[in-house]
Amino acid sequence: LIYDIIIIGAGITGLATALKIKEKKPGVKILILEKEKNVAMHQTGNNSGVIHSGIYYKPGSLKANNCLHGYKLLLSFCKENEINFELCGKIIIATDAKEIPRLNNLYDRGLQNGLRKIQKLNPEEIKEHEPHVNGISGIHVPYTGIVDYKEVCFKMKNLLINNYQSDLRFNAEVIGIEKVYSNFKILTKSDSFETRLMINTSGLFSDRIAQMTGMKINVRIIPFRGEYFELKKEKQSLIKNLVYPVPDPNFPFLGVHFTRMIKGGVEAGPNAVFAFKREGYKKNDFSIKDTAQSLLWPGFQKVMFKYTAMGLGEFYRSFSKSAFTKALQRLLPEIQKDDLEAGSSGVRAQACDRSGQLIDDFLFVEDTGIINVLNAPSPAATASLSIGESIAKKALLHL
Ligand SMILES: Cc1cc2nc3c(=O)[nH]c(=O)nc-3n(C[C@H](O)[C@H](O)[C@H](O)COP(=O)(O)OP(=O)(O)OC[C@H]3O[C@@H](n4cnc5c(N)ncnc54)[C@H](O)[C@@H]3O)c2cc1C
Repeated sequence: LIYDIIIIGAGITGLATALKIKEKKPGVKILILEKEKNVAMHQTGNNSGVIHSGIYYKPGSLKANNCLHGYKLLLSFCKENEINFELCGKIIIATDAKEIPRLNNLYDRGLQNGLRKIQKLNPEEIKEHEPHVNGISGIHVPYTGIVDYKEVCFKMKNLLINNYQSDLRFNAEVIGIEKVYSNFKILTKSDSFETRLMINTSGLFSDRIAQMTGMKINVRIIPFRGEYFELKKEKQSLIKNLVYPVPDPNFPFLGVHFTRMIKGGVEAGPNAVFAFKREGYKKNDFSIKDTAQSLLWPGFQKVMFKYTAMGLGEFYRSFSKSAFTKALQRLLPEIQKDDLEAGSSGVRAQACDRSGQLIDDFLFVEDTGIINVLNAPSPAATASLSIGESIAKKALLHL
């Protein structure tokens, strides 16, 4: 059996891509290979569960276009498949006068991205939305929502297997890729599979999978762990919905925020700490191979040099709960160290190029018979069905 398409990785990007290909052309023979025992075990299953509105992203960028379009597709998908979500809205808060120009830029960006219902807030209006939150100016974004992306992925998996006759193999880590005439032979520990087209949606390992095909790529994945605390039950009423700071434009991360979750509870986080292992969810997780690859990459050496203070600050906050609490107190002055319990963590796959840029936009790199997704960080969960749609278009051109 020769597959038309093999997708490597059953996170939300791979699943949404498979679904969109099948919607366009149900007869295409697809196999998804996933090294874990189920879908959504990495970035997708450990994220903040936010349906992003698109306010942050540069108009016209892949992030902006796919987030705005993906938002609509995701809401329809949830409605059609009875997946619980809530458009609870969020506020972005400036706590220091220095942040006001950046907040104003965000507001303009939101309008340029077509988010007409966003509103500027003065300190009293901030209190109307979030009585315990402190800010000198803010933006209310009514579009933002919350969902459980694992649930979205379980539904996608069921549709793919039951309605679209796709093959999904779990516990199938791809360890090698060989070219066989114009096809690819994809090797796992126990099997090999042949395909006309391979799509690489392997998240934290997407650079390594791309290299297995013999491609020369100009980026490496640098893992950044995001750690969360959870608000103790009796303190959850301090936050009604979602509260975000003004992000630092030098970084592709949104800053530590408060997120109410669809399944209940309120999370605070995530920070962004360099991880010494690609799937290093714990502070002491370490892999010599992963660490060496990050540290030896000239681009990451430049990032470390440029942002030493910021990086050390994140490490300090990671190990010091007091420092983490202090960052949160800027938004929510009443919050105390004892109100926070250690929560889960997620690891972001952030591509970094050779020149030292942390790639801000989504990055897709194609070659004959190969489509690689080499950077799909936040808001790729929100954007997944739109990303899937555009990869599906590219994929059908290859066949
Ligand atoms: C802490 C955190 C918070 C976030 N918050 C949000 C949010 O609120 N909203 C939002 O829209 N986005 C958010 N994001 C981003 C979003 O979660 C990711 O962009 C998205 O999940 C990426 O999905 P993916 O399928 O590309 O990658 P992943 O979910 O990481 O999936 C990749 C899959 O490939 C598999 N794989 C890897 N190597 C191999 C191999 N060799 N063989 C077989 N399989 C392999 C992995 O096991 C994994 O299942 C967040 C991310 C993080 C980390």
